[in-house]
Amino acid sequence: MTDFQSLGLSDGLLSAVIDNGYDAPTPIQQKAIPLILDGRDLMGLAQTGTGKTAAFGLPLIDRLLEDAERAGPKGTRALILAPTRELVNQIAKNLISFLKHTPLRVASVVGGVSINGQIKRLSKGTDILVATPGRLLDLVDRKAVDLGTASYLVLDEADQMLDLGFIHALRRIAGLVADDRQTLLFSATMPKQINELARSYLRNPERVEVSPAGRTADKVTQSVHFMDQTEKGDFLLKKLKAEPDGLSLVFCRTKHGAERLMRKLSQAGIAAGSIHGNKSQNQRDKAIRDLREGAINVLVATDVAARGIDIPGVSHVYNFELPEVAEAYVHRIGRTARAGADGDAIALCAPEEIGLFRQIEKLIGVDIEVVSGEIPPMSAAAGRAKRGGGGGGRGGNNRGSGRPGGKKPFGKQASSGDNDNRSQAKRPRRRRQGGRRDAA
Ligand code: AMP
Repeated sequence: MTDFQSLGLSDGLLSAVIDNGYDAPTPIQQKAIPLILDGRDLMGLAQTGTGKTAAFGLPLIDRLLEDAERAGPKGTRALILAPTRELVNQIAKNLISFLKHTPLRVASVVGGVSINGQIKRLSKGTDILVATPGRLLDLVDRKAVDLGTASYLVLDEADQMLDLGFIHALRRIAGLVADDRQTLLFSATMPKQINELARSYLRNPERVEVSPAGRTADKVTQSVHFMDQTEKGDFLLKKLKAEPDGLSLVFCRTKHGAERLMRKLSQAGIAAGSIHGNKSQNQRDKAIRDLREGAINVLVATDVAARGIDIPGVSHVYNFELPEVAEAYVHRIGRTARAGADGDAIALCAPEEIGLFRQIEKLIGVDIEVVSGEIPPMSAAAGRAKRGGGGGGRGGNNRGSGRPGGKKPFGKQASSGDNDNRSQAKRPRRRRQGGRRDAA
């Protein structure tokens, strides 16, 4: 088995690894660390939960330590960009845990909080700056930060940054960072746009890929319950009450839907919180802290708010509503079964969501086990399309809808069963990898 010692990290970093309780490097760490230490540009196809923060963070810190040069006022030696405030904070926290025995400094800047404190903090310069693109450009425009000295650029969750419309911000930022930098790009999926981004900003990159199957997905038992939308609230309540010791993330499609559901659960005596775009940064941070510390055991979330956050011990991920983009399902269920634990991913699918459900199965190449309810016919999805809901009836104008030649995050082939056949109710379903049956 490969160990951290053999990857070429310096002794100081090895003790940080031990302090963090990491026994052995994860697959992405095994592949990426030696290449980054070697100075190579890298394109990493990996989800959150695979240990990718340490995969780029440890060698980046090692390289910074090798070179005693300090950043000048307002300068930074390395820049890490991530799509959401939560992810930025999480990356910074992770890096700080690796830096304990070093003189290196980390600063993080995110939107939604006062900019003045950030300007002050950056005035002395830093070694590593972790930022969301929007706030970083605000700071650039205010001449509060000088990116010209950054010789390392990390783009984390690049696909999500593109989804959130950060492409122009990324282009502008990449133009401000030193030309002879080392660039590392991580993405959970590799759509065409990401390849284009990589071609523009990476020099002769090494490509490393880890199938999430070994670390995350294999440990997740996926199941689906078919029911009407109106039945979902009571169903969820019953499930949550049956698992009082579980730690659950519940995904909704809209901010209002998430808030409504959180209130319903709270009124029924479930200790629940919510994170979505209408919550302030402080409220979001508190909700995540509450879940981590056990003050609540259910967090209702929308995709953007929850993307990338690492909450150890999440036992259940409920897809209360299926995501509009099939790839978001992969991100959602990646919140459970972290660091080798088991997890349950339970989808609640209304008839009008059947098209979205089929897109998810096609993308992941797995027949999700049907535990209760009857599989609605594909024609049920038409109601959704007619109501302007998009999704089910749509013909492939989004990234998740069966892109020809598209990447399958689980590295498996799509089932050869055709969708129409599989939509017949009562057709016996293949159980996935002996996953346990999840009583309704
Ligand atoms: P990440 O994909 O970077 O969000 O990491 C997911 C979780 O795995 C975090 O809680 C990390 O602290 C943890 N982790 C990262 N590398 C290792 C490792 N080699 N051994 C055990 N846990 C790890």
